[in-house]
Amino acid sequence: MKWVLASGNAGKLVEIREVLADSPVELVAQDELGIGDAEETGATFVENAILKARHAARISGLPALGDDSGLCVDALAGAPGLLSARYAGEHGNSAANIAKLLDALKDVPEAARSAHFFCIIVLLRHPDDPAPLIAEGRWQGRILEAPRGHGGFGYDPIFFDPSRNASAAELEATVKNRISHRGQALARVRELLGDAR
Ligand code: IMP
Repeated sequence: MKWVLASGNAGKLVEIREVLADSPVELVAQDELGIGDAEETGATFVENAILKARHAARISGLPALGDDSGLCVDALAGAPGLLSARYAGEHGNSAANIAKLLDALKDVPEAARSAHFFCIIVLLRHPDDPAPLIAEGRWQGRILEAPRGHGGFGYDPIFFDPSRNASAAELEATVKNRISHRGQALARVRELLGDAR
């Protein structure tokens, strides 16, 4: 049984393949099938994840997994949110994104700097599936006043997890992958697939 992953991200492919390792599913990346990116025109993470999965399911004729994630800061009404990857303009420029976020929060005291990472993973069994399987994960923390640590990617150096007393960039990768928004969503995918079998 073949499923398509509606993402060109090799790291995600590896992670999700691990979740599916003991199942009969073979996961292929959309670019291996010549499928390009969908337009992310949704207003929420879940809408964008479904748009991506539907695009890949329609073109490939296969069940499709789509995902979306980002950082939501309470004092900024959830920004950078859907724009997390390109908050400062250029896609994937983490240093510029961090600088812009720290500037937006420069007058916000510690107690009001709460934030969470959010991740959605959806499975569409076919492009018109009216009841997709939806798994979400949420990692609660707050935004630091300056970067800490050298691991991870994106906003990790300024995202502080009070329960671990560390920034996401200071955590071992295995620890981060277990507790993070993506780790939680993947665990939920595993549960839902277990139920579905
Ligand atoms: P995407 O889901 O791969 O499109 O990720 C969107 C953006 O959210 C990334 O480019 C990062 O800026 C941010 N992001 C998502 N997950 C993480 C994380 O685990 N650490 C740091 N930044 C993240």
